[in-house]
Amino acid sequence: MKPTEELLASILDEVRPLIGQGKVADYIPALAEVSADKLGIAVCYNDGEIIQSGDSNEGFSIQSISKVLSLTLAMTLYEPEEIWSRVGKEPSGHAFNSMIQLEMESGIPRNPFINAGALVVSDLLHSRLSAPQYRMLELVRELACNPHIVYDKAVASSEMQHSDRNASIAYLMRSFGNFENEVMPVLTNYFSYCALKMSCVDLARTFNYLANKGLPLGAKKTIISQTQSKQMNALLATCGLYDGAGEFAYRVGMPGKSGVGGGIIAIVPGEMTICVWSPELDPSGNSLAGTAALELLAERIGRSIF
Ligand code: GLN
Repeated sequence: MKPTEELLASILDEVRPLIGQGKVADYIPALAEVSADKLGIAVCYNDGEIIQSGDSNEGFSIQSISKVLSLTLAMTLYEPEEIWSRVGKEPSGHAFNSMIQLEMESGIPRNPFINAGALVVSDLLHSRLSAPQYRMLELVRELACNPHIVYDKAVASSEMQHSDRNASIAYLMRSFGNFENEVMPVLTNYFSYCALKMSCVDLARTFNYLANKGLPLGAKKTIISQTQSKQMNALLATCGLYDGAGEFAYRVGMPGKSGVGGGIIAIVPGEMTICVWSPELDPSGNSLAGTAALELLAERIGRSIF
């Protein structure tokens, strides 16, 4: 069945009692200030139709959801082996900001969706683009069909002030020869991508190309090929939710990507994209009520890739 606004509203009502059981990201003050009771959901069909409920038009920090955008951009600029010789395709089973495997695996991150992997991808973008932040913003505005999307400068600069761990990850990779540029400018770009401020509706629109064989909403040309779109979905299904990827596949059964801002995007290939937002996180850094909402929605509409 097709989700209706009533169905989305009733799912939000069902998961609302979970608010209070998770923890809003507090590693930077700008995220800790977000009110925990925000809850929104949006579905975007491949024909552009939007169905939404709750705080679905309110902008929030997309954080690691941006890792899908940077990989997409890198896929448009590089040959596959230029990317995959520098970053792996395997689930990490560790926290998103873990460094444990990096040391053991000669500075090659497990996958592009943990911080280490996204930093390598940001390094790739830095090497090939003269103004990576500008290009990213241009791309996102195009994909979301929204020219008003901006970087939240307060979030980006707050991240920069608390960047020791991400800087350590980048320097460790540089020591292994897997980082081409100076660390700080690449970090600055990475934090800006994370600080993109977008709503559930923006995000559901943005990622529709992954439900539509690489073709963005309203576009005549694919941004990535059908094969690359399939590959991205495979990576999202196995690595998109860090050490919670197995649990998410089990409960929701869709390729997905989370961010510590509390957003999660999920893809139903051939049909629709979904975005939920609830700022409180589970211990893996994935939205607690957001995951529950996706689980209920998947069940009610009878969709799963498995
Ligand atoms: N900006 C965050 C970081 O680099 C993103 C992490 C996330 O959303 N999981 O730590």
